[in-house]
Amino acid sequence: MDVQTARRLVAGASRIVGFTGAGISTESGVPDFRSPNGVWARNRIVDFQEFVSSEAGRVEYWRQKVAAWPAMRDAEPNAGHHAFVELHRQGRLSALVTQNIDRLHQRSGLPAEAVLELHGATTEAVCLSCGDTIEFDEACRRVEDGEEAPRCRQCGGLLKPATVSFGQAMPADVMLRAEAAARTCDLLLAVGSSLVVEPAASIPRIARQAGAVLIIVNRDPTPLDGIAGAAVHGEIRDVLPGLVTRGD
Ligand code: NAD
Repeated sequence: MDVQTARRLVAGASRIVGFTGAGISTESGVPDFRSPNGVWARNRIVDFQEFVSSEAGRVEYWRQKVAAWPAMRDAEPNAGHHAFVELHRQGRLSALVTQNIDRLHQRSGLPAEAVLELHGATTEAVCLSCGDTIEFDEACRRVEDGEEAPRCRQCGGLLKPATVSFGQAMPADVMLRAEAAARTCDLLLAVGSSLVVEPAASIPRIARQAGAVLIIVNRDPTPLDGIAGAAVHGEIRDVLPGLVTRGD
């Protein structure tokens, strides 16, 4: 029933904002955070405060990142990513806001300017002091070669993946653009997110408050299901392609 409602609502929308979380990439082999086999089943969280204040925290953070990197680097986009490309091809996707750091939306064919990355991307490591960057592959090699928590070779500052950690500020310009997109869409399609990480989860709420329809596709229930026009609980590959295809 919810699938039919969702399909009807998506078919009637012309300015759609996509909002995605780690769940859209699990079918590509990139684990999410909160599922039973997710990252947090095996790792503890090193937040930004711990990263900047503790060498042991930095070593643990880099250990986790290096271990996770091959699966992310080698992942290929899946049917969920391609569903958003289809919406873009139809001229109905005004923006794709993602919490993901894996670049799979861009690699699936969405133009870079259509993708708003709230939490950055795992493409490089950045010096927290001077802003110098190096390729992520190079940073991982240095860790594997024994620099357990690598430092900037320009200034000696702390090198950190160019992603947003818990407790770290979001990129303000990207958040502003995401909020503007949410305020002006007629439908927000939230896919593969537990919708509990703030302030990212404010984006679907903003869209709903501005009068847009909210559709949620996720395996597990989310706190926003109650304000959604339809909340479909299932596997993304089984649900999403059918929501976006048109008879034309
Ligand atoms: P989350 O782990 O909190 O939630 C993921 C949700 O996706 C879960 O509720 C789960 O039920 C659902 N899900 C997983 N696989 C699914 C599937 N195949 N079909 C349907 N639903 C599925 O992730 P989140 O909400 O994105 O928030 C956590 C943070 O994780 C984000 O800030 C993000 O930066 C980070 N993260 C990103 C990646 C990535 O880039 N791929 C991976 C792990 C974590």
